[in-house]
Amino acid sequence: MRSPRQILEETFGYPSFRPPQADIIDTLMAGEDALVLMPTGGGKSLCYQIPSLARPGCGVVVSPLIALMQDQVSALHTLGIRAACLNSTLDAAAVRDVEGALRAGALDLLYVAPERLVQERMLALLDDVQLALFAIDEAHCVSQWGHDFRVDYLKLDVLARRFPRVPRIALTATADERTRVEIRTRLALDSARQFVAGFDRPNIRYRISLKENPRTQLAGFLETYPGAAGIVYCLSRKKTEDTAAWLVERGFEALPYHAGLDAAVRARNQARFLREDGIIMVATIAFGMGIDKPDVRFVAHLDMPKTVEAYYQETGRAGRDGEPATAWMVYGLQDVIKLRQMMAASTGSEAHRLAEQQRLNAMLGLCEVVTCRRQALLRYFGEVLPGPCGNCDNCLDPVATWDGTEAAQMALSAAYRTGQRFGVNHLVDVLRGEDTDKVRQFGHQRLPTFGVGAARSSGEWRSVYRQLVAGGYLDVALDRFGALGLTAACRPLLKGETDIRFRRDAGRGAASARRTSAMPPADVTDPVLFEALRACRRDLAAAEGVPPYVIFHDRTLKAMCAAKPSELAALRAISGVGDRKLDKYGAAFLAIIHGHTG
Ligand code: ADP
Ligand code: ZN
Repeated sequence: MRSPRQILEETFGYPSFRPPQADIIDTLMAGEDALVLMPTGGGKSLCYQIPSLARPGCGVVVSPLIALMQDQVSALHTLGIRAACLNSTLDAAAVRDVEGALRAGALDLLYVAPERLVQERMLALLDDVQLALFAIDEAHCVSQWGHDFRVDYLKLDVLARRFPRVPRIALTATADERTRVEIRTRLALDSARQFVAGFDRPNIRYRISLKENPRTQLAGFLETYPGAAGIVYCLSRKKTEDTAAWLVERGFEALPYHAGLDAAVRARNQARFLREDGIIMVATIAFGMGIDKPDVRFVAHLDMPKTVEAYYQETGRAGRDGEPATAWMVYGLQDVIKLRQMMAASTGSEAHRLAEQQRLNAMLGLCEVVTCRRQALLRYFGEVLPGPCGNCDNCLDPVATWDGTEAAQMALSAAYRTGQRFGVNHLVDVLRGEDTDKVRQFGHQRLPTFGVGAARSSGEWRSVYRQLVAGGYLDVALDRFGALGLTAACRPLLKGETDIRFRRDAGRGAASARRTSAMPPADVTDPVLFEALRACRRDLAAAEGVPPYVIFHDRTLKAMCAAKPSELAALRAISGVGDRKLDKYGAAFLAIIHGHTG
């Protein structure tokens, strides 16, 4: 039997473990259970794959993502690992083959859909074979509160009773305490050792700007990532289709994805995203869980997510390979109003609604913060980043602020004197002294506030209102369309007891200046060679029917560009090149490098 470290080096071609991996693997090697909370891209899979190889018997991996199982298995095959999957997509003959291999002890890893694993037939089969461990991936699927809930996950506690001597590991990237507790109780993992990796994703650059002309802004952002794969999230199904169509017209390779699409179309679009090099997926949140494509270079939000947790999880799909990636978002007051109205329409207790409101406010706070966004994000998850990160828009282009005390008083007074019954458009008209039908209809031209804010543009006033809502000074009424009402927090502001500073929104001119910070750093030392290596990878991937990243990651290709190895031993020293891949692909890549340098 090989040791975990040998397997890491020989099979995976990686020189060292990342921080909690070694401890997690030791725990399983000792036959104990583990609960792992690690951000996306942290390296969860190795935590169960390596002990499955190092312990006698087969490792059984529970995963809800049937559509992705075959790809996971193919990727393991390229590493020389004996893996298979069992799910409803296989025909009877294929199932018999896999079961036969399992009985014969010819499998290191078996991926099983939860609904299949809990069937008596499957459990009886497992009774008869030696098992290395059970891994329960995406363990937050046991949570009835999350939108990934799977009823079959609730039955997985059977594993503890039926296989008490087989160690179990549950893994998730979901951070909050409630989910953690639910996983423990529902999966009978009370005594499991817990491992929490830091939630920082230093290679992701966070950028949030004001929504002006969202499509044009998006296109401007996408132009900084030519040929890169990425995800664009939208709130509605229709918007994903419209946006994808618009991007295609503009020459981008974009595809829509949402739960309402035909299953075949969904599967095809997902497969293209995984297999081709630079597809932009325009999707609702139905897309993303379990997509372990490592080279997603950006995640863009055209609509604000409802919570910081969701934002973190969705943006976390960028840059799993550790290479520079961007989380980009545009947001505006309209997002807040729309989300609040969706909440109002949702059923649930008052306490539940209040909790939702607080989570939305935290998300707004992250949008409006004028200091380091990464510090704010990590603080939300209870982590402290000692200094500003230097890799978010606020760090790279510090935000100017202005004393908005007087403006805030005017804006609040306009809302108050009009009876707290109007939305932002009308309030801005009142402040600016516009002669509109609505103003005359309600006699608002006679208010003392009428026209007091003529010196500011309507854009500036909208900015003031947005920040007052985000700061909790104004509430968006749930019963009327976007009516703004004062909250108790306004009192000291109106009395002049406190000051307030506002973010100076980057206008259209400033937006282009800010764009410089979006440029991904040029970290490819030899772009011509890099493209040649990519082409080689594409051909090999197509021949094997696997996604290109399964052959080698971009990071590995970049290391080849830098080191330009001329022989197999030097190629083997590059991270990501293990024994099997060296045998299979080494000669092809060396030939490209040789041709380029020779
Ligand atoms: P997660 O499931 O936590 O999102 P993965 O298991 O997909 O993350 O790992 C993310 C990426 O990091 C993968 O491409 C994986 O090959 C790579 N990786 C994991 N562990 C290591 C390591 N110790 N050294 C180098 N790369 C690693
Ligand atoms: Zn920062």
